[in-house]
Amino acid sequence: MSQEILMERMTWQEIEKALNDGWDTVVVMSGSIEQHGPHLPIATDTLLGYSLAEMVAQKMGKTLVAPVIRPGLSEHHMAFKGSLTLTRSTFMAVVREVVDCLVRHGFKKVVILSSHGGNFGALTELVKQLAAEFPQIEILSSPEMGAEFEQTTEVGAKDGIDKASMGVHAGEEETSMLLAYAEDQVRKDRLALGYVGTMSDKEHDEMITHGLHTITKNGVLGDARLADKERGKKYTDLITTNIVNGLVRIKPEGK
Ligand SMILES: [Zn+2]
Repeated sequence: MSQEILMERMTWQEIEKALNDGWDTVVVMSGSIEQHGPHLPIATDTLLGYSLAEMVAQKMGKTLVAPVIRPGLSEHHMAFKGSLTLTRSTFMAVVREVVDCLVRHGFKKVVILSSHGGNFGALTELVKQLAAEFPQIEILSSPEMGAEFEQTTEVGAKDGIDKASMGVHAGEEETSMLLAYAEDQVRKDRLALGYVGTMSDKEHDEMITHGLHTITKNGVLGDARLADKERGKKYTDLITTNIVNGLVRIKPEGK
């Protein structure tokens, strides 16, 4: 049997053995519980968090995956039923305390990632604090968290899918990725077209401030009708390759 890498499926003794065998790197992924249009469940970012974290761990080797942390920061989705959000300080405290536990168990490298864009800002701030608090271990993350999700344009373009249709929320890209990981969770009879216009950075910031409902009635940014399972595998593969290649050890704040 191959090594189980999801910690929540392992017993404490299996985790102890893995650590003793040198599996001392762990991925701490943050997801969200938030609306993802009429066709995807509110756990989408959490499910994709597992998908991405498992593939990152496999590519890194000798790496376990901690339970994906959720809820995340999703205030901009609260107009849609079922979305849950934490305040920024609560979210940061939860991630910090999970890392603290993992350090106490003996993990030497902790990889901090997010499958949900709303968490990037808080985590970018937090990783520096973690690096200062836990100098005995390595805190690894992306120098520009989330950039990997912007590097998939060519994969879509090859199949004639433009960036606006790929979308940044519940559009073609995320729907394809969930088809690849948990096809049974996708409502294929309700794949939706959402907002596919172009947004300036200012308009994007305003949407985040006022909520997605000000721009998209069904909660979708992109065109999920174009989703494809095989392309979803390609997106996931490219994003995780770029994450692994881009990981750096975070320096403590002020150093
Ligand atoms: Zn999402």
